[in-house]
Amino acid sequence: MKIHEYQAKELFSSYGIPVKEQILCYEPGEAAVAYEELDTECVVIKAQVLTGGRGKAGGVKLAKSKEEAKDHAKNILGLTIKGYPVTKVIVTEAVDIASEYYMSFIIDRNTKSVILMMCAEGGVDIEEVAEKTPEKIYKFAIDPLIGLPDYLARKFAFVLFQDLNQVNQLASILQKLYKLFIDKDASLAEINPLVTTKDGKLLAVDAKMTFDDNALYRQPEILSLFEPTEDEKVETAAKEKGFSFVRLDGEIGCMVNGAGLAMATMDMIKLYGGAPANFLDIGGSSNPNKVIDAMTLLLKDPKVKVVLINIFGGITRCDDVASGLLSAFEQLKTDIPVIVRLTGTNEKEGREMLLGTRFKVAETMSEATRMAVAASKE
Ligand code: GDP
Ligand code: MN
Repeated sequence: MKIHEYQAKELFSSYGIPVKEQILCYEPGEAAVAYEELDTECVVIKAQVLTGGRGKAGGVKLAKSKEEAKDHAKNILGLTIKGYPVTKVIVTEAVDIASEYYMSFIIDRNTKSVILMMCAEGGVDIEEVAEKTPEKIYKFAIDPLIGLPDYLARKFAFVLFQDLNQVNQLASILQKLYKLFIDKDASLAEINPLVTTKDGKLLAVDAKMTFDDNALYRQPEILSLFEPTEDEKVETAAKEKGFSFVRLDGEIGCMVNGAGLAMATMDMIKLYGGAPANFLDIGGSSNPNKVIDAMTLLLKDPKVKVVLINIFGGITRCDDVASGLLSAFEQLKTDIPVIVRLTGTNEKEGREMLLGTRFKVAETMSEATRMAVAASKE
């Protein structure tokens, strides 16, 4: 689970990690008020979206007056960054930055531990540093039984700083962030940039945290910060209907019974040069209501150009599935081509019931997939 920068900074603040005061705003007018409330010359307006790269997308702007704060807030609130519409911003006191550093704690499956990553070249180009000069990023595995006692925190801090005062500041930030990470079952805690100010203070200018979904049952405080994206809302609604559903980027809507068959269907679509619009396992039974719910879910996605129904009849008989499909589509209003492949118990009877109807019936999985890929490209 991801949280916003402002939420992560509230956690930072409660653990004593230095951050600037911030005010959350939903309207440009609120940003102007926030400017006055912060009572400082220069503020930063920052988009609050669950993705990085806001700076490069125009989602981070400095403002030196109330009018400027309002204008920037208005522009940023109209942006969509990497598919995420910006609905809120923070206004925060600007920092006079001397240098930008990178630091993060992340779970590393190779060392089976948390690792600390640090780099003296932090900021918006960290991806480029990681790609072109990975040796500039220091990595230290943290023994879970030892954690980050003073001597280790200082040893790591000396990697970025020589000045004792700054070493001590960083060591303290490392210890506090590590404690936050462990306490809250995080999978990532990142400060990029961690900055030094002109008067030698260390400060977190950005904050990013993600949490282990499997630990949320024991983290009610973190769970309460959850804000589902539009896709996650659709996935949650699908789960409530008994489906497993994951939205993807392609055009072929898939309705399949069984997770293994659903995976195989997606692989086959890719093999024939198409792209699945989703993963959908509708489980067993031929209940027409289930088919209606599943089709409604698929048709909500404007990208879906064709639907591929791939059913293996085991205990559920194929003729039952066919009559379920027929009665479901009496109620559904759509012109989208629907390709059906039925196999297993009573498959012949099932297929015969669908001949001469709106469905395009295929005998094998590869035939059905090729038909769906062809229809998606028309
Ligand atoms: P991101 O692009 O989503 O990672 O957003 P950040 O919060 O990291 O901001 C991007 C960049 O904006 C930072 O690397 C800084 O260079 C700059 N920036 C952010 N806040 C301030 C600030 O208070 N003062 C100054 N001078 N620059 C800032
Ligand atoms: Mn950042």
